[in-house]
Amino acid sequence: MPFTFEERIKIVEDRIKQACERSGRSRDEVHIIAVTKYVSLDTTKSALEHGFCDLGENRWQDAQEKWEAISAESDTSADRQPVWHFIGSLQSNKAKDVIGKFTYIHSLDRLSLAEAIDKRALQLGITVPCFIQVNVSGENSKQGIAPEELAPFVEKLSRYKSITPIGLMTMAPYEAEPEQTRPVFKALRVLRDEMQMNSEYGNTITQLSMGMSNDFDIAIEEGATWIRLGTILVGKEEE
Ligand SMILES: *Cc1c(COP(=O)(O)O)cnc(C)c1O
Repeated sequence: MPFTFEERIKIVEDRIKQACERSGRSRDEVHIIAVTKYVSLDTTKSALEHGFCDLGENRWQDAQEKWEAISAESDTSADRQPVWHFIGSLQSNKAKDVIGKFTYIHSLDRLSLAEAIDKRALQLGITVPCFIQVNVSGENSKQGIAPEELAPFVEKLSRYKSITPIGLMTMAPYEAEPEQTRPVFKALRVLRDEMQMNSEYGNTITQLSMGMSNDFDIAIEEGATWIRLGTILVGKEEE
C-alpha cells in the first residue's frame, strides 16, 4: 500500500466530509464498516486500534480465525468492542455459525434465509437487525431480491419475530467512472422511502448500506448511512 493507515484514514475522512457537505448531510449520519475480508488478523486489530469498531466480513470460513482471536482478546473497555457485520451472501445452513457472532446481517435476500436466521436467533434469545439486499442494477452476478419483489418480501418478514429489518443494502456494479453508479444508489434510497411510507416496518427500515471503495462518495451523496470500505481503508493483502 502506498500510504500508511493514518494517511488512508485522512483521505477517506476528507472525502466523506466533502460528500456530506456537497449533499447537505451531517457527518454523523455516515458510519464506516471496515471490511477486513482481504486482510490479516494483525491488520484487523490495527483497524480496531484506530477506532474502527464496525468490522465487515463476507465469508464465515475466512472470518472465523479473526473473529475467534479478537473475541477472545476483547477487554471490557467499551470503546474498543468490535461489532461484526456479515456482508456476504449467506447460505441458510451457515446461519447457525454466524448468528450470535455477527450483530448485523447485510445480505438478507430470501425467505429461506430469514427462516434460518429466525430459528437460530430464537434459540439464542436475540433479535437480529438485518438489511435486505436488493439487486437494483439487475446484474446476474449480484445477489439480492428484485426491486419489485421488495414490498411483498417485507410483508412476509413479519412472520419472523426474531428479525428486525433495519434498512436496505445494495452493491453497485464496478464503474471506471463512479458517477455512473448514482442511479443505483438513488433507486435504493427511493425504495427505502417507499418502505417507510407503506410498510409496517416504516419506523425500522431507515438505514442504507451502500458504497464501497470505488463509489462511496456518490453513495453518501445519495443517502448512505453505512459505507463498506475494504481496499481504500484497510488495504488488500496478497496471501
Ligand atoms: C468486499 C466488499 C466490500 C468492500 O470492497 P472494497 O471495494 O474493497 O471497498 C463491500 N461490500 C461488500 C458486500 C463486499 O463484499
